[in-house]
Amino acid sequence: MKDDNCIFCKLANGEIPTATLYEDEDFRVILDANPASKGHALIIPKEHYANLYELDDTLAGKAMILAKKMINRLTDVLGCDGYNLVQNNGECAGQTVFHFHLHLIPRYKDDGVGIGWKLNELTEEDREDILSRL
Ligand code: AMP
Ligand code: ZN
Repeated sequence: MKDDNCIFCKLANGEIPTATLYEDEDFRVILDANPASKGHALIIPKEHYANLYELDDTLAGKAMILAKKMINRLTDVLGCDGYNLVQNNGECAGQTVFHFHLHLIPRYKDDGVGIGWKLNELTEEDREDILSRL
Protein backbone atom coordinates (compact mmCIF):
# COMPACT_ATOMS: atom_id res chain seq x y z
CA MET A 1 0.00 0.00 0.00
CA LYS A 2 1.14 3.54 -0.73
CA ASP A 3 0.15 6.60 1.27
CA ASP A 4 -0.64 9.61 -0.97
CA ASN A 5 0.46 12.02 1.75
CA CYS A 6 3.80 10.37 2.43
CA ILE A 7 6.95 11.90 0.98
CA PHE A 8 8.95 8.66 1.33
CA CYS A 9 6.29 6.78 -0.69
CA LYS A 10 6.85 9.35 -3.43
CA LEU A 11 10.65 9.23 -3.19
CA ALA A 12 10.80 5.42 -3.04
CA ASN A 13 8.54 5.05 -6.07
CA GLY A 14 10.30 7.67 -8.17
CA GLU A 15 7.45 10.22 -8.12
CA ILE A 16 9.92 12.77 -6.74
CA PRO A 17 13.40 12.62 -8.25
CA THR A 18 16.19 11.94 -5.77
CA ALA A 19 19.81 10.79 -5.67
CA THR A 20 19.36 7.03 -6.00
CA LEU A 21 22.23 4.70 -5.09
CA TYR A 22 20.31 1.46 -5.66
CA GLU A 23 16.84 0.27 -6.57
CA ASP A 24 15.08 -3.09 -6.78
CA GLU A 25 11.45 -4.22 -6.69
CA ASP A 26 11.20 -3.73 -2.91
CA PHE A 27 13.48 -0.81 -2.01
CA ARG A 28 15.13 2.39 -3.11
CA VAL A 29 18.35 3.53 -1.44
CA ILE A 30 18.85 7.29 -1.55
CA LEU A 31 21.25 9.89 -0.21
CA ASP A 32 19.87 11.65 2.87
CA ALA A 33 19.10 15.34 2.19
CA ASN A 34 20.66 16.32 5.54
CA PRO A 35 23.59 13.94 5.91
CA ALA A 36 25.27 13.29 9.24
CA SER A 37 28.40 12.48 7.23
CA LYS A 38 29.44 12.15 3.58
CA GLY A 39 27.49 9.26 2.02
CA HIS A 40 24.67 9.06 4.63
CA ALA A 41 22.01 6.98 2.88
CA LEU A 42 18.50 5.72 3.59
CA ILE A 43 17.03 2.33 2.70
CA ILE A 44 13.35 2.93 2.00
CA PRO A 45 10.76 0.24 1.13
CA LYS A 46 8.48 1.05 -1.81
CA GLU A 47 5.39 0.06 0.17
CA HIS A 48 4.25 2.19 3.09
CA TYR A 49 5.01 0.89 6.61
CA ALA A 50 5.03 3.52 9.35
CA ASN A 51 7.79 1.86 11.36
CA LEU A 52 9.62 -1.39 12.11
CA TYR A 53 6.66 -2.86 14.03
CA GLU A 54 4.51 -2.64 10.90
CA LEU A 55 7.16 -3.84 8.48
CA ASP A 56 6.53 -7.14 6.73
CA ASP A 57 8.85 -9.85 8.18
CA THR A 58 10.27 -10.85 4.82
CA LEU A 59 11.04 -7.24 3.95
CA ALA A 60 12.64 -6.69 7.35
CA GLY A 61 15.08 -9.50 6.56
CA LYS A 62 15.69 -8.18 3.07
CA ALA A 63 16.39 -4.68 4.44
CA MET A 64 19.21 -5.99 6.63
CA ILE A 65 20.70 -8.04 3.80
CA LEU A 66 20.54 -4.97 1.56
CA ALA A 67 22.20 -2.86 4.26
CA LYS A 68 25.09 -5.31 4.32
CA LYS A 69 25.41 -5.21 0.54
CA MET A 70 25.27 -1.40 0.43
CA ILE A 71 27.84 -0.83 3.15
CA ASN A 72 30.25 -3.29 1.57
CA ARG A 73 30.01 -1.41 -1.72
CA LEU A 74 29.95 2.09 -0.21
CA THR A 75 32.91 1.47 2.09
CA ASP A 76 35.03 1.00 -1.04
CA VAL A 77 33.56 4.05 -2.77
CA LEU A 78 33.69 6.42 0.20
CA GLY A 79 36.80 5.13 1.92
CA CYS A 80 35.05 5.31 5.29
CA ASP A 81 36.31 3.56 8.42
CA GLY A 82 33.06 2.25 9.90
CA TYR A 83 29.27 2.43 9.77
CA ASN A 84 26.35 3.14 12.07
CA LEU A 85 22.98 1.64 11.16
CA VAL A 86 20.27 3.73 12.78
CA GLN A 87 16.55 3.07 12.70
CA ASN A 88 14.21 5.35 14.66
CA ASN A 89 10.70 4.32 15.75
CA GLY A 90 8.44 6.92 17.32
CA GLU A 91 8.75 10.64 17.82
CA CYS A 92 10.47 10.28 21.20
CA ALA A 93 13.13 8.13 19.49
CA GLY A 94 13.81 10.80 16.88
CA GLN A 95 11.62 9.54 14.05
CA THR A 96 10.53 12.48 11.88
CA VAL A 97 9.34 10.67 8.75
CA PHE A 98 6.72 8.03 9.52
CA HIS A 99 7.56 5.63 6.71
CA PHE A 100 10.07 2.95 7.78
CA HIS A 101 13.65 3.72 6.80
CA LEU A 102 17.07 2.49 7.79
CA HIS A 103 19.89 5.03 8.04
CA LEU A 104 23.31 3.94 6.76
CA ILE A 105 25.77 6.42 8.26
CA PRO A 106 29.38 6.13 7.17
CA ARG A 107 31.91 6.97 9.86
CA TYR A 108 35.33 8.46 9.34
CA LYS A 109 38.06 8.50 11.95
CA ASP A 110 37.61 11.58 14.22
CA ASP A 111 34.55 12.75 12.22
CA GLY A 112 32.81 14.14 15.32
CA VAL A 113 29.42 12.72 14.28
CA GLY A 114 27.38 12.64 17.47
CA ILE A 115 25.61 9.31 17.71
CA GLY A 116 25.59 8.18 21.30
CA TRP A 117 23.98 8.12 24.70
CA LYS A 118 24.95 8.50 28.33
CA LEU A 119 25.91 5.15 29.88
CA ASN A 120 24.00 4.33 33.07
CA GLU A 121 24.35 1.39 35.47
CA LEU A 122 21.80 -1.41 35.02
CA THR A 123 19.96 -1.43 38.34
CA GLU A 124 18.90 -4.65 40.05
CA GLU A 125 15.34 -3.29 40.17
CA ASP A 126 15.18 -2.73 36.41
CA ARG A 127 16.80 -6.07 35.65
CA GLU A 128 14.35 -7.97 37.86
CA ASP A 129 11.36 -5.97 36.64
CA ILE A 130 12.12 -6.63 32.96
CA LEU A 131 13.13 -10.29 33.27
CA SER A 132 10.18 -11.15 35.49
CA ARG A 133 7.60 -9.66 33.13
CA LEU A 134 9.01 -10.80 29.78
P1 AMP B 1 14.23 10.05 10.92
O1 AMP B 1 14.53 11.25 11.80
O2 AMP B 1 14.85 8.77 11.39
O3 AMP B 1 12.75 9.92 10.65
O4 AMP B 1 14.95 10.37 9.55
C1 AMP B 1 14.38 11.09 8.51
C2 AMP B 1 15.50 11.41 7.56
O5 AMP B 1 14.94 11.70 6.29
C3 AMP B 1 16.36 12.63 7.98
O6 AMP B 1 17.71 12.22 8.08
C4 AMP B 1 16.13 13.61 6.84
O7 AMP B 1 17.28 14.34 6.54
C5 AMP B 1 15.72 12.70 5.69
N1 AMP B 1 14.88 13.31 4.68
C6 AMP B 1 13.71 13.97 4.87
N2 AMP B 1 13.20 14.38 3.69
C7 AMP B 1 14.07 13.95 2.73
C8 AMP B 1 14.12 14.07 1.31
N3 AMP B 1 13.16 14.70 0.63
N4 AMP B 1 15.14 13.50 0.66
C9 AMP B 1 16.13 12.86 1.34
N5 AMP B 1 16.14 12.72 2.67
C10 AMP B 1 15.14 13.27 3.36
ZN1 ZN C 1 5.06 6.09 2.85
